[in-house]
Amino acid sequence: MGANSILLANYVDGRLCAPRNGRYLDIFEPATGQVYAQCPDSDAADIDAAATAARRAFPAWATMPAGDRARLLDRIADLIEARLDEFVTAESRDSGKPLALARSLDIPRAIANLRFFAAAATQFSSESHAMGNEAINYTLRQPLGVVACISPWNLPLYLFTWKIAPALAAGNVVVAKPSEITPFTAWLFARACIDAGLPPGVLNIVHGRGPDAGQALTGHPGIKAISFTGSTRTGAAIAAVAAPKFRKLSLEMGGKNPTLVYADWDATAANWATIVRSAFSNQGQICLCGSRLLIQRPIYEKFKAAFVEKVQALRVDDPQESGCDIGAVVSGAHFDKVMGHIALARDEGGKVLCGGNAVKLDGRCAGGWFIAPTVIEGLDVRCRTNQEEIFGPVVTLTPFDDDDDAVALANATEYGLAASIWTTGLARAHRVAARLESGIVWINCWMRRDLRTPFGGVRNSGVGREGGIEAMRFFTEPKNICIQLD
Ligand code: NAD
Repeated sequence: MGANSILLANYVDGRLCAPRNGRYLDIFEPATGQVYAQCPDSDAADIDAAATAARRAFPAWATMPAGDRARLLDRIADLIEARLDEFVTAESRDSGKPLALARSLDIPRAIANLRFFAAAATQFSSESHAMGNEAINYTLRQPLGVVACISPWNLPLYLFTWKIAPALAAGNVVVAKPSEITPFTAWLFARACIDAGLPPGVLNIVHGRGPDAGQALTGHPGIKAISFTGSTRTGAAIAAVAAPKFRKLSLEMGGKNPTLVYADWDATAANWATIVRSAFSNQGQICLCGSRLLIQRPIYEKFKAAFVEKVQALRVDDPQESGCDIGAVVSGAHFDKVMGHIALARDEGGKVLCGGNAVKLDGRCAGGWFIAPTVIEGLDVRCRTNQEEIFGPVVTLTPFDDDDDAVALANATEYGLAASIWTTGLARAHRVAARLESGIVWINCWMRRDLRTPFGGVRNSGVGREGGIEAMRFFTEPKNICIQLD
């Protein structure tokens, strides 16, 4: 451990504590490539302690009036808001994302998640079904008990709270495991929970690696449901553990999202900015990023020239600098993976129109993991570059002719998370949206999020839906009660 390394802790039974095995993992700052913190390398013993504390806390939390639960969630949100700069700086430092993105997206959205589900706790209701005058049914929606929330590194606190908030709002108690690559804001979050007066054991945060802490959590006999966001490979491993135990499961996984640009699209400066953002936001490390741009043939060359020019103008820089558009990718291993994909694209016959190289910065970022935003054309839809999730600043361009062609190309992967369609033809936009095998379709926009809408993917992108009422339903068990009236 470096002299100035920050030591993170688990949050179990209301207290910050060291892992029982005393082991820690190095945490790197992607912009510098240097270790700056250490987080617990927890194992089954820590998970068991967390699940035990949660089970103890469950009866009081489940029966607490919803308004009181809501007030506690709001208080945590207030504390994050009051400590905004600390959270923003930490998220940027931990993940390599531009400070401006953490300030405009990640942390405000974490606050919004808490406030949204605080309100949902007080609004949640269930159905009744009358059978004439003979009988009436009503549905009791009861919390499940101890639930597991597992999140990835790309939007650390944003996705962590997206799971925790509805779970708690619905009256469950939680054992949560953030990504071991970006654990920092989860640790700050634990401190906010303590300061807000969240009762001990209601939320427990255990840091550690997937094969150790993660697997111990999903396999723990006390867990009633698992809400997971991460890669499709890990999702499959978790499903294999959960299925024989008949656990409720929500899986939000990878994507290979198409962006369909029709010849009649409205090429305003704002729309151009959104398309570029949809490809390269957070270095392309957002599950919703459009990594396959499908362009209608009559405008293909003109679009390509303008797009490449805009991409080349993006500034790759120290994420802490205000003008930074593209920060560092999250880790050395991920850097190698993305660079490997660029090499593969070249091997497959792709033509690199811009980028394709690592970027070496000076000064404190000399050892950082930076990759130039990369645009590639000339690849078949079936090649690995167009099939596998790269999850970095790399996109491909492919021309299409008509709706059938566009839909066939868009649907030609095993994923189905998100798509965007750019056209001024409203009828066509609706027709094509209905034909895309995708959980979310944006028309003339990207990543506009209303937290009430169902969020999730189809095929290898996901099982189940998060967001709004869907999340509240996932985190409760419906029980039908039928009363004879005559
Ligand atoms: P990952 O699957 O490697 O890890 C995600 C989490 O699962 C981490 O906390 C990890 O420690 C844990 N984990 C790993 N193996 C485990 C196991 N066997 N049992 C239990 N837990 C385990 O994913 P990542 O690399 O952190 O994140 C990137 C991926 O997440 C991309 O594929 C991206 O598309 C996806 N993602 C999806 C969404 C969505 O909403 N669909 C959102 C963000 C990211």
